[in-house]
Amino acid sequence: MAKETHQFQAETKKLLDLMIHSIYTNREIFLRELISNASDAIDKVHFEGLTNKDLLEGDDQYEIFLVPDADSHTLTISDNGLGMNKDDLMENLGTIAKSGTKAFLEKLQQAKEGGDTGKDLIGQFGVGFYSAFMVSEKITVVSRKAGEKQAYKWESTADGSYTIEECEKEKRGTSITLTLLPEFYGDKAEENFTDTYKLQSLVKKYSDYVRYPIKMNFVVEEQPKDADGKPIEGAGTIKRNEVRTLNSMQPLWAKNKSEIKPEEYDEFYQNLFHDWERPMEVMHNKVEGTIEYTSLLFFPEHAPYNLYHSDYEPGLQLYSRHVFIMDKCKDLLPEYLRFVKGLVDSPDFSLNISRELLQQSRELKLIGKNLEKSILRQLNTMLKKDREKYEKFWAQYGKSLKIGIYGSAYTGTDTVDKLKDLLLFTTSKEDKLITLKEYVEHMPENQKKIYYATGKDRAAIDSLPQMELLRDKGIEVLYFLDNVDEFAVEVMREYDGKPFHSISRGDLGLDDVESQEVKKETENITKTNEDLIKDIKETLGDKVADVKISSRLKSSAVCLVADEQGPSFAMEQVFAETNN
Ligand code: ADP
Ligand code: MG
Repeated sequence: MAKETHQFQAETKKLLDLMIHSIYTNREIFLRELISNASDAIDKVHFEGLTNKDLLEGDDQYEIFLVPDADSHTLTISDNGLGMNKDDLMENLGTIAKSGTKAFLEKLQQAKEGGDTGKDLIGQFGVGFYSAFMVSEKITVVSRKAGEKQAYKWESTADGSYTIEECEKEKRGTSITLTLLPEFYGDKAEENFTDTYKLQSLVKKYSDYVRYPIKMNFVVEEQPKDADGKPIEGAGTIKRNEVRTLNSMQPLWAKNKSEIKPEEYDEFYQNLFHDWERPMEVMHNKVEGTIEYTSLLFFPEHAPYNLYHSDYEPGLQLYSRHVFIMDKCKDLLPEYLRFVKGLVDSPDFSLNISRELLQQSRELKLIGKNLEKSILRQLNTMLKKDREKYEKFWAQYGKSLKIGIYGSAYTGTDTVDKLKDLLLFTTSKEDKLITLKEYVEHMPENQKKIYYATGKDRAAIDSLPQMELLRDKGIEVLYFLDNVDEFAVEVMREYDGKPFHSISRGDLGLDDVESQEVKKETENITKTNEDLIKDIKETLGDKVADVKISSRLKSSAVCLVADEQGPSFAMEQVFAETNN
């Protein structure tokens, strides 16, 4: 095969451009990205090797090697992972297949238009392989896929195209050689990525927990010693090569809780989940008994932009006695906790279990139930003990809990009881969040229902004609500003025996709150205006179901209300939107 030149896909080109010209300060993260790709590739070959031993070609000493070379100002990162063939190289390093990266591009473009450099976004999205172009003028990838004979060389200077040609490679896996930009090598460099000690500290900082050894050769200078081990005076120094493993590989979750500093959890989380922010919440539990496991769970500080899109992959990592089994296992947590990140390590998991079998595993179900319980317990405690923090949580993930309640109508799960006391709403009283329990506590004695109003913001609801009367009577109204709010209460129906009632639907049922005088007056007005009402009804025809004299208006002359049984206005709008 002759050497081929290919153009990068337009979007890749754009990404590379932004990457190279961004004044991103934290360029060193490229190393973390390349190491994590190497580790992923080893996971893959390990996993496939479980059922296909031949694939490993007798080499199951997994390792990642860093080779800095000051003379050629290059840094090479090698692994004996799965490797890539020609198609893989073109697909993985030539296009942006992942919608996550596409979304990143859009965000970055927006940030730039807004005058922002977008530098924080790179860390947030973890753009992976391409980040190496922030420090390199040329990248050369040599790879041979496990089980295949032919190796390939991919090369690019990020000028819009890359080349591919056949080459030789004895060991399976991938070697990525970065030809560093002048700022990143030599003694005067801003940051010298050919310096072994610099690289060692970066690995410690970002990749200490990587579960395969990350090795590097150190040149050690020492004085020659005599037979008794005493240094020989005046003999000068000799140089010796020494391969060292840079990462501890000690999984954090296996340590005692009391020995772990908060920063260690933060770094571990940031490392494993490529987040540039510290987690909002950390939960580390060791459980022993009928079932044994350790879990380490996190709530990210911010909900990912695609949390509710189908391309978001929820799930936890699974380990058995510290050995990685799989990523994104969805069967542990209920859908409404899809934002939780983390891992579970249990000796009860079998190492080479398939996803299908895992789903039916009794252990997994049991652990899942326990995790759900402890997360709910944590949230309830947070709500009671640290309201400010809970409101921060609510702002990010409240929607998930509401969808959880709404979804129970379809999944037949019992989320309502679990979640109803965790809901927060703003109300007509103050611009402050309250729970349903608090709403009920505020209710006047003769109020029988929980009133809510739906709208796009507070002002829209405040201007509803129906609000006047309720405000006048001092009745608090829950503000539903999120589409899903109304769906959730439709499923709940009532709280503490009090039905939910939309203020724009049917009779408000304020009889007991309303004075008998007002009622009488309304009846009188209806009687004396019978003809007028009849006229209006005839004129409007089937545009309305009924016309009534109402005591619910103060300064407005008329208002439209939804039928008692029919959907409310807001829901009609949602239906109209989804049907389009
Ligand atoms: P991500 O790791 O999030 O998928 P990257 O941009 O880091 O995104 O990598 C893109 C793809 O390139 C990976 O998904 C993988 O298929 C492939 N890849 C990158 N590095 C390696 C490697 N060292 N060995 C095998 N495949 C790799
Ligand atoms: Mg990656």
